[in-house]
Amino acid sequence: MSDQSDTAVGIRWDLGDLFASYDDPAIEATLCTCRARAEAFATTYRGTIHTSAGPAPERLLAALRELEDLQASMERLGTYASLLYASDTTRSAYRDLRERIELALTQIGNIILFFELEWLALPDEVADRLIEHHSLGGYRHFLRQERRMRPHTLSEPEEQLLNERDNTGPRAFGRLFTELISSLAFSLERDGATQNLTLSEILALSHEADRDLRRRAHETLFADLSRHELVLTFVYDTLVQDHLTIDRLRSFPYPMAARHVANEIDAEAVDRMLAVAEANYSIAQRYFQVKARLLDLPKLELYDQYAPVGQELPRCTYERARDLVLAAFDAFSPVAGSTARQFFDHRWIDAEVRPGKQDGAFCASPSPNLHPYVLYNHTGNLRDVMTLAHELGHGIHGCLAGRQTMLNYDTPLTTAETASVFGEFLVFDHLLQVETDPGVQLALLCGKIEDACATVFRQTVLTRFEQAAFARRQGGRFTPETVCRIWLEANRSYYGDAVDLSDGYRWGWSYIPHFIHSRFYCYSYVFGELLVLSLYRRYKEEGRGFVPKYLRLLEAGGSDSPEALLRPLDVDFRDPAFWQKGFDEIRALVERAEELAGTQASQGSARPGR
Ligand SMILES: [Zn+2]
Repeated sequence: MSDQSDTAVGIRWDLGDLFASYDDPAIEATLCTCRARAEAFATTYRGTIHTSAGPAPERLLAALRELEDLQASMERLGTYASLLYASDTTRSAYRDLRERIELALTQIGNIILFFELEWLALPDEVADRLIEHHSLGGYRHFLRQERRMRPHTLSEPEEQLLNERDNTGPRAFGRLFTELISSLAFSLERDGATQNLTLSEILALSHEADRDLRRRAHETLFADLSRHELVLTFVYDTLVQDHLTIDRLRSFPYPMAARHVANEIDAEAVDRMLAVAEANYSIAQRYFQVKARLLDLPKLELYDQYAPVGQELPRCTYERARDLVLAAFDAFSPVAGSTARQFFDHRWIDAEVRPGKQDGAFCASPSPNLHPYVLYNHTGNLRDVMTLAHELGHGIHGCLAGRQTMLNYDTPLTTAETASVFGEFLVFDHLLQVETDPGVQLALLCGKIEDACATVFRQTVLTRFEQAAFARRQGGRFTPETVCRIWLEANRSYYGDAVDLSDGYRWGWSYIPHFIHSRFYCYSYVFGELLVLSLYRRYKEEGRGFVPKYLRLLEAGGSDSPEALLRPLDVDFRDPAFWQKGFDEIRALVERAEELAGTQASQGSARPGR
């Protein structure tokens, strides 16, 4: 284990703004209030929305406002329960609370479900008249977006039944996955002792300079995962089939269709984007060849992919990560800096690595009147700075969108990654300024290219894997071999001849939470990264003039469609050339790395000792 400052020991969030503890009586009281308000809402509005002439606009407005208040209270409960659980997934009191809240919220949701269904049942001409009414202007986008679900919505008893069964159906399989993965201890010999590592910790070893350590970590990771092949395959198989069943019941024409509706994007834009991404796989392969030269290897193995190059980067304490991120945000805009600073000052971050804590990183933004929370695992790698920048980008977005009302607060996934990826770019450029040594710069540049590849290309691979898996599942139940084969096929077209894939890597699909909890999420990362590459270039061209436009985009939250919100920033993601511009930016980074690598090689100092 590394020393204490490396792993952010003691940096835990304070959830006191939500509730005092898992047995706080206010939890039960809030639940009771929510239930009573939901029942009162049903008494007042049931049967008055779906009427032949439709409701009066004022009545619909009053209902929407009451609904927002109720949803905000429900979010407080749901967020608290899930954050507490994420902080220690092994603690039974937390698990119990989460399950109890989940069930109760589902029941409350069922009481108010009629409202959405009555709104969807209105004929188009009645609904359109209400959507255009001036008094409902603040909810125009929400009302219109809801209507897009009209062809995919079932009757009230059917919807209620599905909601209740989900807790012991797909959500239960998701919990099984999370609890299994969190419980794994990967045992690895290091410095003469056997260490038991969490998934985060063993994944972080792929960034170590010691090639043998990287190789052993890689082999241990996949060997251990393969021991759980029965459960991991069964869980994935069940969730894919569940998704296909729901698609059939809801008349979604293909597996990604539901995600496209939720993302407020049309399929053509996504298909075009993914095709352009695949056509640019050669940029990544070109980079892998540069990297092999830098590492003095004939060819990369998969576990060399994230090996450090250039100068060995220093370890990064939590405090340094914080200072770097804040300095970069401050330089961009005092608003961004001061908003991010609150997360540290008020303990809205859980950064400590500890057993049982949920792996990875996320930012939870419950509602406009509650601040977001960030969970991440600070392993002491300089790479953690980018993760922190990413999650705080989300955090700033959540804070700035706080001026919206509840129904206009959340952004669809397509633009949900804008502020996070933008935050990463700010911190990356700041690091290049602070670190003037060409060796360190080369290392940072390679890190940035690898991040861009992981976001743009790897997420395209993940999406292609999901598409292929879903197509294959129509033919019957998965075996582990089937899923492993589909995974390797999707990866081979990306890595090409530039990287050798190990045999164990066929299990690479098995620990990825998105496949379990949010299927077809991954293309949103591609979308977000390419969008930000273009926005960031605009920032560099326009300078300060860009900042207010960008902040306004964040403040707008989810109050309109991504297309409409991005129009003031001159973004048109229906234009094929728009996507290619993002890839041209990545190619420029690779070319810069090639130049730096040439200089380094001629100085004979390209490689750190290994
Ligand atoms: Zn994110």
